[in-house]
Amino acid sequence: MGNDDIFKKVTAHAKEYGFVFQSSEIYDGLSAVYDYGQNGTLLKNNIKKYWLDAMVLLNENIVTIDSAIFMHPTVWKASGHADAFNDPLIDNKDSKKRYRADVLIEDYREKIQKKIDKEVTKAAKRFGDAFDKAEFLKTNGRVLANQKKIDELTNSFQTALENDDLAAIKQIIVEAGIVCPISGSKNWTDVRQFNLMFDTRIGSVSDESGKIYLRPETAQGIFVNYLNVQKTGRMKLPFGIAQIGKAFRNEIVARQFIFRMREFEQMEMQFFVRPGEEKKWYRFWKEKREKWHKALAMGDEKYRWHDHDKLARYANAASDIEFDFPFGFKELEGIHSRTDFDLSQHQEFSGKKLQYYDPELQKSYVPYVIETSLGLDRMFLSVLSSAYTEEVIEKADGKKDTRVVLKIPAPLAPVKVAILPLMKKDGLPEFARKIMDNLKFDLNCRYEEKDSIGKRYRRQDAIGTPFCITIDHQSLINNDVTLRYRDSMKQERVSILDLPSIIKLKTNMKNLLKKVEA
Ligand code: ATP
Repeated sequence: MGNDDIFKKVTAHAKEYGFVFQSSEIYDGLSAVYDYGQNGTLLKNNIKKYWLDAMVLLNENIVTIDSAIFMHPTVWKASGHADAFNDPLIDNKDSKKRYRADVLIEDYREKIQKKIDKEVTKAAKRFGDAFDKAEFLKTNGRVLANQKKIDELTNSFQTALENDDLAAIKQIIVEAGIVCPISGSKNWTDVRQFNLMFDTRIGSVSDESGKIYLRPETAQGIFVNYLNVQKTGRMKLPFGIAQIGKAFRNEIVARQFIFRMREFEQMEMQFFVRPGEEKKWYRFWKEKREKWHKALAMGDEKYRWHDHDKLARYANAASDIEFDFPFGFKELEGIHSRTDFDLSQHQEFSGKKLQYYDPELQKSYVPYVIETSLGLDRMFLSVLSSAYTEEVIEKADGKKDTRVVLKIPAPLAPVKVAILPLMKKDGLPEFARKIMDNLKFDLNCRYEEKDSIGKRYRRQDAIGTPFCITIDHQSLINNDVTLRYRDSMKQERVSILDLPSIIKLKTNMKNLLKKVEA
């Protein structure tokens, strides 16, 4: 199955099983805006809990806040968003489609890289154990030619970005012969800048004075509350403020389901440190965040680091954690060393001192900041797409069948356990309800008595429920049930007294958090 097919299947599955719906679907939808359904909301909440607990429970010096979406308009002047929160856009004159020029170039670079990877795979097969990858990369003619293309492209792209040279960006697209994926033509407009912030009006004034913005990131809500939290929480440096909340960006290209939305959620943490110590904390948070992702055991090979080609004005180091989505490696989370840029800007624009008195150094200064910034919806997509599995299995009658199962990490699964009386009679439902009443306070349970047991198992597989409990006539006599495991489909007889501990061991968030801390 090709990657495009997988992505289509994941998207269709997300809708069919109540994870994600197009916003306002009955009115034909609103582009790049989505609603989370009954299962999606539970999964999303579990991801939020995993993130917030890893921040706040595991770190005594991190607290959380919930700041407003609307902020004073000067915030966005100070942060630079009013003047410079732009994407370079380019239109194809034939298809009339609009693209982000930087994304077109990055996709092209990725395509050449794939050619190199293909050569390596082919050669590894041909030479077997004797294959020396480093030597091959240094000597193979085709690889060297492609690597040269990548290096030249990267250099000229980096220079164009650094100089904000839009004509040079267009020149790169033209020279590389990049075509529009829809029309296949090279008939491009010039590259222009496009501000991504949504604006609206506050109060009853209709002129410019009432113009405010929907926040394009949650971070500024943290910066403007730095002093409030530091003083009222008696926080000592280093300390962090974590926040989960909505952000809004009028994205130019929004065609990848919940990867790029116009309304989305971020999970951001700003960690305030002593100037001069930022490199140490930058490394610390890179390591921590990588561990947090990998603790989910979705496959270490699905993550890679990507250092920024162009550092934002505010940053002295920045790197992204990229995830291997069905459409390739793309940014999942950013880790940025933001210097004292934001607090200094707010100090200047507001006229209020945003400093910290360091009792050890006996002086005041504006703290430096390390930021970790993760998109909740992208995180959701990474979990969903890596969980989606199709397996060919043999049925009882020997015929082959395909089972679709979401192998969601158990602590994140929307429903932890399904309780399934084999029949709707003979006291089985009552016995099943008793088991549910015992488990439901700690675990999200689902009760189902309709359809054959096989069909019920499949429905639970399709939403990623790690455990199914089946109650039969034997259960009433022996006080035991059949426990079925989602991934292996293994079934075992278990005493009802042992159910809570077995299920909690696998589904408890605590075990995940312990891996993050290890
Ligand atoms: P991209 O280059 O993909 O546009 P970005 O570098 O602009 O992303 P940041 O400003 O660093 O992104 O935002 C931090 C995180 O917020 C990203 O790593 C991503 O997970 C998430 N994010 C950003 N824009 C969107 C969006 N439009 N839809 C969903 N998530 C987003």
